[in-house]
Amino acid sequence: MSDLNALQEQYEQYKSMGLALNMQRGQPSDADYDLSNEMLTIVDETDVVTPSGIAIRNYPGGVAGLKEARELFGAMLGVKPEEMLVGNNASLKLMSTTLMWAMIRGLKDSPKPWSQEETIKFIVTVPGYDRHFTFLDAIGIEMVSVQMTSDGPDMDAVEALVANDASIKGIAFVPTYSNPTGDTVSHETVKRLASMKTAAPDFTIFADDAYIVHHLTDDPAKPLNLLRACEAAGNPDRVYLFGSTSKITFASAGIGFMATSVTNLAYIGKLMGTQFIGPNKIEQYRHVKFLNNYPGGIDGIMREHANYLKPKFDVVVDVLTEQLGGTGLATWTNPKGGYFISLDTAKPVADRVVELAKGAGVALTPAGATYPHKKDPNNANIRLSPSRPPVEEVAQAMQVVAVCVKLASAEYDA
Ligand code: PLP
Repeated sequence: MSDLNALQEQYEQYKSMGLALNMQRGQPSDADYDLSNEMLTIVDETDVVTPSGIAIRNYPGGVAGLKEARELFGAMLGVKPEEMLVGNNASLKLMSTTLMWAMIRGLKDSPKPWSQEETIKFIVTVPGYDRHFTFLDAIGIEMVSVQMTSDGPDMDAVEALVANDASIKGIAFVPTYSNPTGDTVSHETVKRLASMKTAAPDFTIFADDAYIVHHLTDDPAKPLNLLRACEAAGNPDRVYLFGSTSKITFASAGIGFMATSVTNLAYIGKLMGTQFIGPNKIEQYRHVKFLNNYPGGIDGIMREHANYLKPKFDVVVDVLTEQLGGTGLATWTNPKGGYFISLDTAKPVADRVVELAKGAGVALTPAGATYPHKKDPNNANIRLSPSRPPVEEVAQAMQVVAVCVKLASAEYDA
């Protein structure tokens, strides 16, 4: 029997098992959520006024959120409370709202609203986060792809692009344990981002630090703080940082926040303040009480999450190594944190792998999702999301994925 036939037979065996496994989206597991159940009841009638004197049932308090929340999440992002705006349940909402204001009114140093410029471009890193791409596209910002490297965005490419093209208004990327590669910016990358010469006077770094505390090992990534680095480089208003508790407490009922210079915050806070009176302070206070009381605080709960997540990451890497190691058919990352593993097929077969996996009952992130306009020029990258299914299911799903990589590659050669 030829290799192709043998692989087809193996694949058919998996198909006949009637599997229904999902490795598609980076969602926490119910065990992860259970760690935060206490938060559901932690606020009661004794908490209607916070220690800083804010009545959480009433309007006043301001658009930047509770002082206690700005302190807690400011410490998490490594910035001062006065540099923080704590919002409602999604960092994406804060990032997209900031970008929308940039389009409508411009950012603080913009010569004019971005929407009045002939072309607006953003650098995005690839492979990267699909929701960055879909939003940028939706508001009419053109994307220029730059490779994500093990040191962060390819800085030679970034510097060359921003130096001469004033239509490039910013860069959007994930600095710590990037989605999907798990890469973290090096100190040198942070310094170069902070100090590089940009043709656009309002060039802005949108750093989505969704995984800043999501360590999987005892050797946590410690990237330099982008806000401090920009300040030190004489570009204090260059960066907005974003983060949330979506993968700390509850994904749809967490808290999103952002940090930027005090001057930027005054500018954007005023604009956002025209949209609503203030965020949900009860939800913020629930998080403050819960996370401040959690043994070890945010680091403590993240260690508990890592206990659930690490075996799942390990099993993905183990199965890939066992099944595909030395075959030359694929490479993959082995992240020290975050939520994803990035798999690259050597041949342009990612879409076929995803299709085959689906046929055998394993849902994967669609091929191309990690590139703007869903177009991976190499048709190679697949984002693996092991966080939600139990570890046994991750193992089984990965066996299927490995066979699909082999089969798709053999089909390609045939
Ligand atoms: N940013 C990145 C890089 C993500 O991977 C995710 C979720 O997968 C989000 C943001 C979503 O964050 P939020 O729930 O705070 O909007």
